[in-house]
Amino acid sequence: MIAEQEKLLQTYFGYESFRPGQKEVINHIIHTNNTLAVMPTGGGKSLCYQIPGLSLNGTAIIISPLISLMKDQVDALQALGIPATFINSSLTTEEQRTRLRELEAQRYKFVYVAPERFESSMFVSIIRRIPIALVAFDEAHCISQWGHDFRPSYRSIVPQLKQLNNIPVYVALTATATEEVISDIQSMLDIGAEHVVNTGFERENLAFHIVKGKDRTSYIRSFLQEHTDESGIIYTATRKQADSVYEQLQKRGISVAKYHAGMSETARKQAQAAFIHDECSVMIATNAFGMGIDKSNVRYVIHYAMPMNIESYYQEAGRAGRDGEASDCILLFSPQDIQLQKFLIEQSLMDEPAKQNEYKKLQAMVNYCHTQGCLSSFILDYFNDTSLKQNCGRCSNCVERLEKTDITEEAQMILSCVKRMGERFGVGMTAKVLKGSKDKKLMDFNLHQLSTYGILSAYTEKELTERIHFLVAEQLLATEEGKFPTLKLNHQSVDVLKGKRSVTMYTAPIPTSEEADYQEDLFAMLRDLRKRLADEKNVPPYVLFSDVTLKELSRYFPE
Ligand code: ADP
Ligand code: MG
Ligand code: ZN
Repeated sequence: MIAEQEKLLQTYFGYESFRPGQKEVINHIIHTNNTLAVMPTGGGKSLCYQIPGLSLNGTAIIISPLISLMKDQVDALQALGIPATFINSSLTTEEQRTRLRELEAQRYKFVYVAPERFESSMFVSIIRRIPIALVAFDEAHCISQWGHDFRPSYRSIVPQLKQLNNIPVYVALTATATEEVISDIQSMLDIGAEHVVNTGFERENLAFHIVKGKDRTSYIRSFLQEHTDESGIIYTATRKQADSVYEQLQKRGISVAKYHAGMSETARKQAQAAFIHDECSVMIATNAFGMGIDKSNVRYVIHYAMPMNIESYYQEAGRAGRDGEASDCILLFSPQDIQLQKFLIEQSLMDEPAKQNEYKKLQAMVNYCHTQGCLSSFILDYFNDTSLKQNCGRCSNCVERLEKTDITEEAQMILSCVKRMGERFGVGMTAKVLKGSKDKKLMDFNLHQLSTYGILSAYTEKELTERIHFLVAEQLLATEEGKFPTLKLNHQSVDVLKGKRSVTMYTAPIPTSEEADYQEDLFAMLRDLRKRLADEKNVPPYVLFSDVTLKELSRYFPE
């Protein structure tokens, strides 16, 4: 049976193989089991009902809340030579009547309709009279009041359909489903747990970033400068924000389009077309834009402000990279976003329990902005997706640890401290002086009176040690060879001090196992030496050998 499906995939759609989950969903459907497919945006949900629709007898009815999407889907099917159409309010009454007649004559394999169509008794009576292959609910989370985009009209057609008694199988498809939504859809459409195919939410080509404490407009401006030829969407929380960002960018001569519900339908259509056809690379929009926009080459989605919940965020951000290419999802966070979202919830027409539920979801969104852990893992955890076993290595929290930061100023302070210390000490002692340590040894050498004492007290001694080692490794600072090397300036140090060259480093590099092994060996060697010093030479315990210069050491090991 499945071999036949594979053939359809290749001959009709021209694809080599199925994507994760597709085969399973198709298999359930052709065995007339009601099925729920939970797959990420761009995962290939349409094919899951299109292939069974082709092999099952009768017409497939696809219910979609998105009028804008229907035409694209139908065009794509027609281009493949498959008889398909849509019936919705964008057509004249005459056109609607013609298509209904053709539906009744069973001219179509696929018919796309909006939920409102079921208010027409004429449509319902036709459905009752013709053979139906399947009924698919695209964007099925709209059925559930737990979903972030609940449509009552969507929910109400379910009992209506069930009365018809001639629907062999129901298919529900969504990219966004929490546990509550999944079980709600299951009970609405009688879907057994064994027929829920959940491929997980991970989008391996998306890199999530949180940006805090930056001026948003200037961040966006410099981002756009680096991404001039790429398509992207900037989402704002309100229409007013969209207007002002649009104006500011336009003033700078950047080619931008704008889309929100306060604009006329013509203006919105124009903006959307300009963006889809790459006449305009940047779209500034509220969440009114995007549902059902199938633009595959969106390289970035920037959220100018934090959205209301993670469901919306993931769906909006997920409009990036539908072609599978690496793309960025950037959230510009500012604490006042929280107040704005609270206000929006408060002002909404929801009843009190629904509002409480929204506040709960908002809190999760806020936590996302504050987490120090992997952002991809955070989102997947939220959706109870346990498929990601380790950190993604792409998000800003994963990458920041590996990100190069400019440490020129710190380097200058370190170098001048080495100079002030008379180039007579090692790494540990220098770090202590920079830190402003109360260590007694510093007093012994009067180092606490230097002007560089405590100059980098904001850092830990470990961080300072790391930076000094880094300068040495980069040959921006020299060491005098020996068992207990002392730090010396060199020509490059002077260039850094004079500001002739800058210094960047990966902050807090993750030690490789080789480094860790080396460190272990070194510690063992030092422990051994320490023991000998204590045993043979009676060295006082406060003298740490790592801080002892060769010359000082020779006091304990005279020739
Ligand atoms: P979704 O509805 O899950 O967001 P779509 O059904 O719109 O995703 O599919 C996204 C893209 O992936 C479309 O361009 C589709 O043609 C393509 N696609 C779907 N299945 C496959 C497959 N098995 N191999 C290659 N491309 C596929
Ligand atoms: Mg889809
Ligand atoms: Zn990560």
